[in-house]
Amino acid sequence: MHIQTHIMSGWCAANCLELTPKERFLAMLAASLPDLDGLTYFFGRELYWSTHHIYGHNLVFALLLSGGLAAFCTHKLKCFLLFLGLVHLHFIMDLLGSGEGWTIPYWFPFSKTEYVWSFGWDFNGIENKLVALAFLLGCVGIAVYLKRTPLELLMPELDRRLVRWAQKLKIGPFS
Ligand SMILES: [Zn+2]
Repeated sequence: MHIQTHIMSGWCAANCLELTPKERFLAMLAASLPDLDGLTYFFGRELYWSTHHIYGHNLVFALLLSGGLAAFCTHKLKCFLLFLGLVHLHFIMDLLGSGEGWTIPYWFPFSKTEYVWSFGWDFNGIENKLVALAFLLGCVGIAVYLKRTPLELLMPELDRRLVRWAQKLKIGPFS
């Protein structure tokens, strides 16, 4: 599935819990960093096809990434579990929306077993756009009612501007 959809999934999930801005930022990293193994694209398609969805898409990487990111958190256990859940959500989203030929070698490097879901859809299919739209609406809702955007940590001024703009969309009795 598209990287921006993964990032938004992390943001939306993180806003369901009481976390610090840094922890919410790290949640977006946890949701998207399995795709680090896709950076091999810049070194040739052959290498990309033999590495993407392998080195970052397995249980060992999920545990290392979640533990590594949680080490920087105040709420270590809560964040570790959230990050681990988000990495697995990434795997599920990839199984559904990466198109034909992409598998998840979940037990790599201990086993060559790879998982695939036959009811997944095409990478450029309407389903991926609908999932992205759903998370985007979630991000807008968070900006309106929780008054923060994914930019809160890195670009606080732009974050405040976007939140001010989002207030115009507000309906309901929330404050
Ligand atoms: Zn992926």
